[in-house]
Amino acid sequence: MINSTAEFQEKMRLLAVSFAEKLPEKVAEIDVSWKQLQGEWETPTLQTLHRLVHGLTGSGKTFGFPNLSIVARALEQTLKGLLQESLIADEQQKTEIQQYILELQTIANDANQEFNPKTIEVPSKDSLYNLQAHISKKIFVVDDDVEAADELVLQLSYYGYDVEAFHQLGEFRKAIEKLPNAIVLMHVEFPEDNMAGIKAMGEIQKNREWPIQVIFISAHDDLDLRLGAVCAGSIAYLTKPINSSELIDQLDALTSPQEQESFRVLIVDDSQTVLSYHEAILEQAGMTVKTVLDPMEVMEVLLEFAPDIVLMDVYMPGCSGIELAKVIRQLGSFVSIPIVYLSSESDFNTQLEAMSLAGDDFLVKPIAPHQLVSAVTLRVRRANLLRSFMVCDGLTGLYNHSAIKEQLGREIVRAARLSTPLSFAMLDIDFFKKVNDTYGHSAGDRVIKSLSRLLKQRLRGTDIVGRYGGEEFAIIMTDTDAPAASRVLDEIRNVFSRLFHVSEDKEFSVTFSCGVADRAHFPDAKSISEAADKALYQAKKKGRNQVVIIDSD
Ligand code: GH3
Ligand code: MG
Ligand code: MG
Repeated sequence: MINSTAEFQEKMRLLAVSFAEKLPEKVAEIDVSWKQLQGEWETPTLQTLHRLVHGLTGSGKTFGFPNLSIVARALEQTLKGLLQESLIADEQQKTEIQQYILELQTIANDANQEFNPKTIEVPSKDSLYNLQAHISKKIFVVDDDVEAADELVLQLSYYGYDVEAFHQLGEFRKAIEKLPNAIVLMHVEFPEDNMAGIKAMGEIQKNREWPIQVIFISAHDDLDLRLGAVCAGSIAYLTKPINSSELIDQLDALTSPQEQESFRVLIVDDSQTVLSYHEAILEQAGMTVKTVLDPMEVMEVLLEFAPDIVLMDVYMPGCSGIELAKVIRQLGSFVSIPIVYLSSESDFNTQLEAMSLAGDDFLVKPIAPHQLVSAVTLRVRRANLLRSFMVCDGLTGLYNHSAIKEQLGREIVRAARLSTPLSFAMLDIDFFKKVNDTYGHSAGDRVIKSLSRLLKQRLRGTDIVGRYGGEEFAIIMTDTDAPAASRVLDEIRNVFSRLFHVSEDKEFSVTFSCGVADRAHFPDAKSISEAADKALYQAKKKGRNQVVIIDSD
């Protein structure tokens, strides 16, 4: 872990020096490959040559050799044209290639003289850490439909957001220039063009270092629009009519401070220098980084390191980044891991192909340090948000049935390893059918929500609460044996039974029953959940509104 800016700068300087030292060798390799190609023109040799040249395009600028990048890029274009058309170079092209290689040799030999450490951008700590400062609670609603925009402004203001509406794209452009950290809710269709919103956002994003956070809203849902929205940097794409609680959840997640940003990042690149450079930047921002030089080793590291995100080079020997991304996606537990290509590839079509095949995003090397940190942060946050939608119950925000079962399996293994107690409780609202019948289904929903809120409030942060079914909840209490769990739950039972619920002008109260079992008597996930369920049944039979510990004899 690098912890001071001076140390970081020193590390960057050393990287650049080592890059300069290795440069003549790299150019010599290029020359060898070119001579071989002239002797016998074969596609694999051309591919190798292209990859070697390509490797210099991004790192040159990163390490303070802008001219190297320019020459390498020009040579790369020529080679790429030959590769794509499966052509053999004509005499003029051969002379051109030879000329470029000579220029590379000159630059490499002069490397130490040309090298200027000042041209390496060194990020300050503030610019890396203050990502939060780029997020505000200001919302811009952009929609030519005045009534719809005003209604949305009103709704969002109830939730404490500061919202401003724009009915024309022009006015909005001026406002976002002044306040680029606002979150934008952009309507897709405008009278002038049925994707004017996406186009305008795309243009605005192009010139920005920090992407503007935008959620698109549209009356239509088709793939073209969604793709366009992704390219314009969308965080989400919502179709009308808008489910306002879904929108609020998204906004809350975007604007709430993140407790932990020590993401785990896996970087795959065939250049050690590039790996070290990106590693240093991300570690400086507090992330945990693992680097892999040989793409063949990725699978092993992936399973062991369990990263939050993978950054990957596109061209590598043995296996391309795109192929690798496809393989990663096939592993069950990595279906939704964000994969970002980090490449000097600036050809738009290859980027599109790479993304449509497996990746999520494309960053073009050389990438400025703060851009790298923000891209990683936003990607991981977004993936976590999406995952939370998958594992959470919509009404209460608690874990859903399958998620809580998964957690129970994991926690029980952990408790066994650490030899610590663990209790599992099942909880079911009493006579809930009657609540629905008497006061209506939405009053019933409110009761479920109030119980979930109470459970979240009263239980410890380490306890895990899930909604097991309709009016049933499950609770995992780590480090707690059954008698202790039962005491806590009985207190909650007592409080809950005194709450008043209101429906129209009628007041009513509701109770629940609960069954508890612990790991000491039921050591695996299956037996502990069966035991808790049985205890719940006993609580119901004994007259409800009580907590029962399973009889373990
Ligand atoms: P007891 O558990 O005390 O034996 O009686 P109960 O009336 O609660 O029994 P039961 O489990 O048979 O009924 C549960 C009812 O809860 C049935 C179902 O209509 C209702 N319910 C399930 N999910 C929801 C929900 O999300 N919202 C509302 N309002 N009601 C729900
Ligand atoms: Mg019930
Ligand atoms: Mg029930």
